[in-house]
Amino acid sequence: MTNNYTAGGNIEAWCTKCKLELGHTIVAMVANSPKRVKCNTCDSLHNFRAKPSEKKRLKSKKSPQKVKVQEIDYNECISRLTDTELSNAKKYRTEGSFEKNEIINHSRFGIGIVSSVIQINKIEILFKDGPKLLVQNREAGPGV
Ligand SMILES: [Zn+2]
Repeated sequence: MTNNYTAGGNIEAWCTKCKLELGHTIVAMVANSPKRVKCNTCDSLHNFRAKPSEKKRLKSKKSPQKVKVQEIDYNECISRLTDTELSNAKKYRTEGSFEKNEIINHSRFGIGIVSSVIQINKIEILFKDGPKLLVQNREAGPGV
């Protein structure tokens, strides 16, 4: 099999700098294969590579989602709520009882989502400002 590649010709190659498959100019040929290429976009000179190797792709695979696994994205949660759910948000009261993922309305912090029930009388609620620890099931003592 022969190909038409020659030095000075154009070739689609992976640019290590642009991180894209782009048009390159062949700079040097070795045994009928492009060896060195120059990126037409960034002018960087590098070894010819048809595309990034799978191995490298896997290795460099970022996992930004992993960071979010443990914390609820407030804006995402709020955007998923319907108007009805928002208007039905339970009013936060220290003597109230709340469950995980319950939507609550706090007089000061606004709409929040119960991210976890830490103890029978302690819950973590995610507000726009961030997570806050609040009490629940607080008994209204005599005279309060
Ligand atoms: Zn480039």
